[in-house]
Amino acid sequence: MSKPRVRFAPSPTGALHIGGLRTALYNYLFAKKMGGEFILRIEDTDQTRYVPGAEDYIMEALEWTGLALAESPKIGGDYGPYRQSERKSMYADFGHQLVKNNWAYYAFDTAEELDAERLKVESDGGTFSYNVHSRGNLKNSLTLGEKEVKALLDAGADFTIRLKCPADEIVYVEDIIRGRVEFQSNLLDDKVMLKSDGMPTYHLANVVDDYHMKITHVIRGEEWLPSTAHHVLLYRALGWEDQMPQFAHLPLILKPAPASYINPKKVDGLTEKFTSEFFKKHPDFTLKSKEQVYQMIRGILLDVKDISNRVQVKPKDKEDKIVIKEFLKSTLFGKLSKRDGDRLGFPVFPLSWQGEKADDHFTGFQEVGFDPKALLNFLAFLGWNPGTDQEIFSLEELVESFSLERIGKSGARFDYEKAKWFNQQYLIHGNDQEIAAQLKPMIEEKGWTASDEKLQKVASLFKERASFTKDIPDAALFLFTDDFSYDEKNGRKKWKAAHAEKNHALINILKETSDFSAENLETIIKGFIEENGLGFGDVMAPLRIAVSGKAGGPSLFDILALLGKEKTVDRLEKGYAHFASLQV
Ligand code: GLU
Repeated sequence: MSKPRVRFAPSPTGALHIGGLRTALYNYLFAKKMGGEFILRIEDTDQTRYVPGAEDYIMEALEWTGLALAESPKIGGDYGPYRQSERKSMYADFGHQLVKNNWAYYAFDTAEELDAERLKVESDGGTFSYNVHSRGNLKNSLTLGEKEVKALLDAGADFTIRLKCPADEIVYVEDIIRGRVEFQSNLLDDKVMLKSDGMPTYHLANVVDDYHMKITHVIRGEEWLPSTAHHVLLYRALGWEDQMPQFAHLPLILKPAPASYINPKKVDGLTEKFTSEFFKKHPDFTLKSKEQVYQMIRGILLDVKDISNRVQVKPKDKEDKIVIKEFLKSTLFGKLSKRDGDRLGFPVFPLSWQGEKADDHFTGFQEVGFDPKALLNFLAFLGWNPGTDQEIFSLEELVESFSLERIGKSGARFDYEKAKWFNQQYLIHGNDQEIAAQLKPMIEEKGWTASDEKLQKVASLFKERASFTKDIPDAALFLFTDDFSYDEKNGRKKWKAAHAEKNHALINILKETSDFSAENLETIIKGFIEENGLGFGDVMAPLRIAVSGKAGGPSLFDILALLGKEKTVDRLEKGYAHFASLQV
């Protein structure tokens, strides 16, 4: 078999959603696994949806995550250009060739005529589609005489070229993930291939380019599955059937389970957000007041256990209830949308994005503090699994274990807690020296200083308890400054007047200790506790709060060693005096 060639073919219509990044990842993994090529093609034929900056964003996101490309608009390659806007001239001929071969036709209907037809059909309770049933009654080269068509073309009349979907046929695709998927050709719409401005639609450009770029496998989102019927027909119509790539349609990424983010504490805030979104979507809704809508949404959110049932429309529901339920259903279930991140407080884009509109600003996984390797590991599991218990995979290991056959058909639920868990795992297993290097500027920004050695020690002690490197400076604040406050509640609770004398005696022992290593401190302090018949908490708890302000944290002996004798003794004296003062 020749080397597989796969492409990631995003349209630069905005920031790349993590669903897009997952598509890129699966294409990359498949290409690498099979010793093939991973290519980037920018599908920018629809100028009305073009967003400046989106193409750069896509490339930066791929660079950040390390998904290396073999060919791209930037790198070039033997099958370029890799931007469809630069390939414009080649598409129209294929459109006309389709007409010549009786696989397509010219359609002269104006937008107004089509609207009128749509209205007519809808008023009879139907849905309009330009297809095998309707095309015989519309204004196209199948219904007009040859002369009339020529006259229209000569006069420069506007036309589109539509694919002539065959009648009474089962069109099918053997999808690698879904198996055989069949489409009844009579139900297919005669999609536009060439628009009236001479530009191809996505369908024509996509197939023409996949063929010319010798793409062997098309791995893309499930939303393209219905169009695949047309693509299969196009390969046949253009005489390229034997070169048709294999298809693999990836499952959707679904919104997080409502119970993972709705809880009594968050209900009010979420209700407010959802109510205002509801009125934005239904500005003319007058069946209920804002307060009534708020209360209804709140009631449903509070019943989170039964929420999927609560948003189902029941036969007895009146119109107001139906509208609110439908809104909540689409807000809480279904495909993960770019708005979900904003709404629920997690990123859905790899990098931050600043669109032109005020509501088109998003924080990315990068800015939140994710390691791109952890993000890829997380994304790999959104739809694929290795069939073993192993969860942590380097990119190389993912390549090794990956197969399209192990991708599931059903939607994969986005789970932000799991994403954080992956990042934490990467942090825990990360190199202390590298973490220390990342910590350095963060520490300096706060106006603190620390040696590289100390930062490495901090990294090794605190990484176990952080999801992100950037959480560490605040957690370890007391190691860089004396300006920290005590957890007063615990300070009062853990300080026992009965043990005050002994705790002070321990300070004196520490003062005399010359070996202030964690090991020696452990021996001394544990020995002291035992000799004096004290409980572990009687000594360790006030000690910890006095030196760090907090009741929890990494190994206390390591902390004391890192602070050094002078600071430890000083803080214990101050802290114990303070705790004693809280008792009165
Ligand atoms: N341009 C399409 C998109 O943005 C590509 C779909 C495909 O891979 O064929 O999703």
